[in-house]
Amino acid sequence: MADTLAQLKELLGPDGWLLPEDGAHFLQDILGTETACLLIARPATTEQVSDLVRFCAAHGIAIVPQGGNTNVCGMAVPLSGQSAVLLSLSRMNRLIEVNAAANTATVEAGVLMQTLQDAAAEANRVFAPDWGARGTATVGGAVATNGGGLNVLRYGTTREQVLGLEVVLPDGTVWNGLRSLIKDNSGYDLKHLFIGSEGTLGVITRLVFKLHPRQPVSQSMMAVLDDMSRLGEFFDMARDMGGQQLVAFELLPGLGVEKALLRYPDLQRPLETRADWYLLLKFAGRDDVSAPLLELFEAGFEQGILSDAVLSQSLAQEQNLWEIREQMIPHQYFQRPMLKWDVSVPVHRMVEFLECAEVEVRAIDADAICYAVGHVGDGNIHYSVFPTEARADEVSSPIYAQVDALIWSLGGSIVAEHGVGSVFVDRMRRQKSDVEYRMMQILKHSFDPQGIMNPGKLLQGDDAG
Ligand SMILES: Cc1cc2nc3c(=O)[nH]c(=O)nc-3n(C[C@H](O)[C@H](O)[C@H](O)COP(=O)(O)OP(=O)(O)OC[C@H]3O[C@@H](n4cnc5c(N)ncnc54)[C@H](O)[C@@H]3O)c2cc1C
Repeated sequence: MADTLAQLKELLGPDGWLLPEDGAHFLQDILGTETACLLIARPATTEQVSDLVRFCAAHGIAIVPQGGNTNVCGMAVPLSGQSAVLLSLSRMNRLIEVNAAANTATVEAGVLMQTLQDAAAEANRVFAPDWGARGTATVGGAVATNGGGLNVLRYGTTREQVLGLEVVLPDGTVWNGLRSLIKDNSGYDLKHLFIGSEGTLGVITRLVFKLHPRQPVSQSMMAVLDDMSRLGEFFDMARDMGGQQLVAFELLPGLGVEKALLRYPDLQRPLETRADWYLLLKFAGRDDVSAPLLELFEAGFEQGILSDAVLSQSLAQEQNLWEIREQMIPHQYFQRPMLKWDVSVPVHRMVEFLECAEVEVRAIDADAICYAVGHVGDGNIHYSVFPTEARADEVSSPIYAQVDALIWSLGGSIVAEHGVGSVFVDRMRRQKSDVEYRMMQILKHSFDPQGIMNPGKLLQGDDAG
């Protein structure tokens, strides 16, 4: 192996690699998992990625692609005990072109989401994917996970922003699918196989994205949801009154809001009322959006759905509301083991899910903390359960089994937008029919017969090659 690694270093050149001990932050993910690798490869061009992959394929070495390492499902670092090369896309960070006339941007995979958002804004355009990790997550990672985020309601998921891709396949071949066509029915639309594939089918090196007209005016409302059972009804009202101007519709737990205000003193308390649930909505458009938002605000009060609310009156107030939203991440607030779901259910079954899940969890562990926050406008809620510490080992499996079964009985998914990685890999298998799982295996085996691309992620270990 020492000789092989020496050859690999030579192939990558002096700037193209780091020793694992010199790149600790590449090897620790957001869940705190610390891992090891043979070498951290940092190629700067598609050709170098291709040479690296070809070399690894010839030597049967596993490759774990990594963008910003902000995923929350154990996806972008090698599994414990695996001998793999970690392939960081961080040096492939060139903005190749922002074309305002064509409404497209062509970029390398290691460009940060925020960098592309800013470049698009300068050209009076919007790069749609947006979430709290925007300053660290890369566009390649966003596509490899098909990230969702805060404005899926208005623009769709990351998948819907991709026009073309360049991918290095697991044998080192480069597929140049960098097209910018709206329509192209000339066969299978192969780019979609790589979107959401979590680095298991190839390495995305360059991308063409769709841009949208900028929405210079926005206003947000944070409101107390007085009657949870009417969440769906209020969402319908917001959609009817806001139309395309409704960009985001989020549910925030009162527990999380209080914890965030306590922990981050720079955040301003938006409402005096302390409630179990709040809604956070954003309307955006070219012109004044205050009229439909005010209409919604009034209707919510008249119909007894809302009991207190604030409408942002300045950019600073609006930012404060969204900063509160970004601090809803639960693991920072509870010092207990965490069980988690990235729930997707049909929008109008969200309340049923929340009510039934709590009943089922408490039947197993009466003192468990249930915590839910999310993009309920698109049917997605991040659901966590913190069991009583002393009973965690005993109750975790039954709680997972009950809540998973509940989600499936509602026609939902346990993996909405964060992806499968290594965290959900076993539970996801149970969500798929044999037919569906077999099709996934066939795809994986066709592209990556040796199973060298991000083994053990997305598909169970035995299916990796
Ligand atoms: C504060 C915070 C908020 C978040 N909010 C959201 C949210 O609202 N919605 C959401 O969807 N996610 C969210 N995330 C999760 C995360 O930001 C996304 O999953 C993101 O898309 C990961 O991008 P990344 O560049 O960090 O990829 P990484 O974490 O480095 O990698 C993710 C996966 O993609 C693969 N990969 C990365 N780059 C490539 C490439 N070039 N070619 C092939 N495979 C590649 C990796 O192997 C891995 O499987 C959040 C994370 C944080 C920390």
